[in-house]
Amino acid sequence: MDTREQYAQFLLPVVARGVEPVVVVSARGRTLTAADGRSYLDCFSGISVVNAGHNHPRILAAARAQMEQLVHCCSYVYHVPVVGELAERLAGVVPGGLKKSFFCNSGAEANEGAMRLAKQATGRREVVALTYGFHGRTIGTLSITGNSARKKNNGPYLPASFAPAPYCYRCPLGLTYPSCGVACAESLKEVIRLQTAGDVAALVAEPILGEGGIITPPPEYFGIAARIFHEDGALFIVDEVQTGFGRTGKMFGIEHFAGADPDIVTMAKGIASGFPLGAFTARERVSEAMKPGDHLSTFGGNPISCAAALANIAVIEEEKLVENAARQGEWLLGQFRRLQEKTPLIGDVRGRGLMIGLELVRDRRSKEPAAEEARALRATLRERGVLVGVGGNFGNVLRIQPPLSITADECDRVTTTLEDVMSRQ
Ligand code: PMP
Repeated sequence: MDTREQYAQFLLPVVARGVEPVVVVSARGRTLTAADGRSYLDCFSGISVVNAGHNHPRILAAARAQMEQLVHCCSYVYHVPVVGELAERLAGVVPGGLKKSFFCNSGAEANEGAMRLAKQATGRREVVALTYGFHGRTIGTLSITGNSARKKNNGPYLPASFAPAPYCYRCPLGLTYPSCGVACAESLKEVIRLQTAGDVAALVAEPILGEGGIITPPPEYFGIAARIFHEDGALFIVDEVQTGFGRTGKMFGIEHFAGADPDIVTMAKGIASGFPLGAFTARERVSEAMKPGDHLSTFGGNPISCAAALANIAVIEEEKLVENAARQGEWLLGQFRRLQEKTPLIGDVRGRGLMIGLELVRDRRSKEPAAEEARALRATLRERGVLVGVGGNFGNVLRIQPPLSITADECDRVTTTLEDVMSRQ
């Protein structure tokens, strides 16, 4: 039985349907190799995970060496050297002087832990999030996910309040930036005042709303948002699961926003370029609210994943991948904007660094989402050897999120292939 047949027979339909018809057997750098021998330029990085590239030799060597020493020893029972080393390293790279870390397995688990900590630190119970936001697929994180498509056929969820997304292309307030005065950020005051019981523990938000369609807030947004929540006595939890570790052309996405000091930063995906690991790092004073026994994750802080994360951070710094993401991203954005001028299908081009979205519309005036067209384009690009993502709340956003090591030649291949494919439509 071949792999696709096994998927059809033995994996849940939720996994087996909609999967790209490519059987991946190996990968290196930006290149995926399929069972039929074909190779692909990966512009989605396993959903924005392999920031240092697939199977980076230095990260593999660090993981391999750790594996020979120790595979598992729950770090909440024993001291594990590599866990301490990674926590110290994170205190040096996470913004806002945050110092104390907790390790877990995934982005959703990191967000769950961060919400628990915020509740304990403030003694409050409510959480505010953004429409179009995405924070995971556990009940708690779905409760603060502002997209019914991700919640349907399930529920009930936990109570949460939602603020209008800073989605300038489809402004929920019907305004235009900058004459709007960033009214969406100011409206957070009203969300607290009118939608909550006045018992808000935290705002949870992504610096760029990845799954929502690479929605890129105006630069003032998070400075205003953080101030409003801090003045209320609540915390600001920034979900850097997708934006962290260089993706946006800065080490963390929130660094693009002046005055937006987070109290807790959550991480996963790019933290170890493919080894499973989640984490959150908190302000020291905030971290003290969780007493021993209050929280635990059996596999959290797996030594192999932590060793990989340490090597990954070293690679990102030494190979100057953050700078490369900023440079190549700027060039790609320019090329995509040029393409947008002659292609009515491309309604909006947005993003930062190597987190880029092309929102496709059937008509520039009505902005009717072009979801089928997005899926068809992804398939044609795949046939031409370039893998991109498709996302957004309407399923009409092409997501360009390659490994941060992508070269100028590879970027050129992406844009020329896209231009060629679009000109034939
Ligand atoms: N937060 C954000 C911003 C994400 O993009 C994702 C995953 N797409 C998650 C949380 C959930 O991460 P995981 O799948 O590792 O639980």
